[in-house]
Formats: sequence, C-alpha cells, structure tokens
Amino acid sequence: MTDTWKTRTKLVHEGTRRSQYGEVSEAIFMTQGYVYPSAEAAEARFIDRGDDEYIYSRYANPTVSMFEDRIAALEGGEAAFATATGMAAVNGALFSTLKAGDHVVSAKALFGSCLYILENLLPSFGVEVTFVEGTDLEQWRAAMRPETKIAFVEAISNPTLEVADISGIAEITHASGAKLVVDNVFATPIFQRTLELGADVVVYSATKHIDGQGRCLGGVVIGDEEFIRGDFETYLKHTGGAISPFNAWVMLKGLETLDLRCRAQADSALAIATALEGHPAVNNTIFPGLESHPQHALAARQMSAGGTVIALDIKGGQDATFKFLNALEIILLSNNLGDAKSLVTHPATTTHQRLSPEMRADLGITDGLVRISVGLEDKDDLIADISQALEQIN
Ligand SMILES: *Cc1c(COP(=O)(O)O)cnc(C)c1O
Repeated sequence: MTDTWKTRTKLVHEGTRRSQYGEVSEAIFMTQGYVYPSAEAAEARFIDRGDDEYIYSRYANPTVSMFEDRIAALEGGEAAFATATGMAAVNGALFSTLKAGDHVVSAKALFGSCLYILENLLPSFGVEVTFVEGTDLEQWRAAMRPETKIAFVEAISNPTLEVADISGIAEITHASGAKLVVDNVFATPIFQRTLELGADVVVYSATKHIDGQGRCLGGVVIGDEEFIRGDFETYLKHTGGAISPFNAWVMLKGLETLDLRCRAQADSALAIATALEGHPAVNNTIFPGLESHPQHALAARQMSAGGTVIALDIKGGQDATFKFLNALEIILLSNNLGDAKSLVTHPATTTHQRLSPEMRADLGITDGLVRISVGLEDKDDLIADISQALEQIN
C-alpha cells in the first residue's frame, strides 16, 4: 500500500487483507457476525472499533473493507463506504447530510431514480431542491442560497451525455459553503479525477463498470474520513443499505481489470462514434470524445477519454428507432451499462418513460434517442452491427 503505486498496481493489490492462510485471491468473508475473544473485548470494540475489528456485517465486513480501501485508493479519497446498490449510495449521500429546511441545487438531467429522490422524496421531507441546466455555471451560481447544503450533478448526464464542469461547479458550491456530490458513473474512476477537480463526495453505481460483467448490484461513496466514518456510516449502518460480502468480492475482483476494460471500451466507443458521425440515418451522434460535442473542450480538459457510452438520435422517430433496435444482432437491448456486452437502451420508452413528453423534450430525450453502452466485443463487429441495423430502417 503505497502512494507511489500507479493505478493498475493499486487496482490489483491495494486494500488486500490476507488471512492466516495466505490466500492469493481475496477471501469472501460470508459471515453476519464476529466472535469476540472476551466480554471485555466486545465492550472495547463497541466503544472504538479498530481497523481490523468487526462487529456486524451491516456495519462493516473484511471483504467489503478490501473493496472500499481499493476504490478509495483509486479515487484518491480518504475513505469509502460500499452499499447494496448505486441508489443506496446516492440516497445515503443525500439523506445522511440533509435535514428539513436545507436546500439542494441539482442538475436537471439525471438518472431516473436520482431524479425521483431529488424531485419527490427530498421535498416531502422539507428539503427544497432547485434544478438547473447542468452545463450553465451562471444557473448554478444564481441558485445558491445561504441554506444550500449540497450541489448534486452527474459528471456526464444520462442519457444525453452532457459534460458538467466539475471544478467550476465546485468553486461556486464551496463559495456558498455547500458540498459538491458527484455521481461519476459515466465518467468512471479511470477517466476522471473527480475529487482532485474539487468534488467533496463521489458516488458510484458499482453495478456498472466496476462489476463490468453484469452480475451484481452494488454502490460506493468516497469522500473524506470525517464524512464517511461520521454522518455517512452512521446513516448507512442504521438504515440497512449494506452490500453483501459476496457482491463486494465480485466488485473487488472487477477492480483488478477496470482500467483495461474501460480503456478498451472507450477506444471502441470513439471508433464507433467517429464511424457513425454524419450517417444519413442519424440526426446526431453524441459522444464527448467527438469534436462536435458541445462540451468537447471541457471533456478533453477534464477527462482522459470520452467515456464508454454513445447516444444516437435516429431519424424517423420511434418507429424507425424500434426497427433499428430490433435489427441489432450483437448489441443487446437492456438498460444496464458499463458491461462487457454492448447494450442499447431507448430511454423515451424505458428508463425515462415516467417523465412527461415536455420534460423529455426539455432534456433532449427524443423518440429517436438511443444510448449505446460499448462493450468489449471487436469494434469492427460493433460498427458492422450498427450499420446493418441502420440500413434496415428503410
Ligand atoms: C445505474 C445508475 C445509478 C443507480 O445504480 P444502481 O446500482 O442501479 O442502484 C445511479 N446513477 C447513475 C448515473 C447510474 O447509471
């Protein structure tokens, strides 16, 4: 465990806790509780739990700790807390900090369940939320109030792939004494140093790239020791959002190959976006790595690659788009992302169906918009698959 290790070394070795058996591959501690050597030891552990002492797996577990320590090191954060799902992480980051009377400023282009928490849940507990255009720093500035506690943004929005200026938003947020929470799923911990850009708390759905093979749900929150071991841990351990040790182990092993996978997927995404740009069946090819993307310069400054997700706005509305989706042979229709398998989603009729047509129009979610999560298949096969499916529209 050393600060001089580079990313790939950290991803393979950081955080390992080897048992007395000296196992090479990290152990799965599939246990709810822990036996205390004495009554005195139990008492002492409840007063102050040491780093390698455990009480109950809703609070902490050795396999889960390995995953947390590894991702905290990757992200450059002081501490991390793993959760059952990405939504448990988002929910915990917000509810552990906020109380009635507080105010939140949030980008309006959000993952559906994040939008539900901010639009419906928080206001019902007396927390007011102001939604802004995530790419417009002036709107962030104008929305801040003395009682603003949190600014919330997805680094790259789902599904329209707008890129948020993290350091710009962090500066505005900190000037009004609030904390910036960034949902970094689409940017990935590989391509963006979100804490270094000024975020206070980074949240992941580990379900996506961190697992990367579509097996387990999981989430993780990274931040400073004071927040993670304080408000966040207190909230999570009493409200029950703990991750299963088995799922944490899948995520831990996923981290070993995260850098390799994300880079391969991002290289393919750029190749596919480049090949499709200007295609006669497509109105718009959206990918932060393309120069035509409205925030391309920001993305190039802030990220080391354009990400692994592309959005296409297909001509001819829902009918044409459904023909395209049904004609794909390799790319599977599913709403996950970050998987080894390439996946395609039609947000207007699935993940964002709940929104009114006006709201969808406002967010740029047209009837022709599809989101493609680029997997680990050969990029030429993927380009051929998309091309043949586009041809079948007519
Ligand atoms: C998937 C996702 C979530 C929720 O994660 P789950 O693991 O499905 O609970 C939150 N935010 C973003 C941006 C996501 O893509």
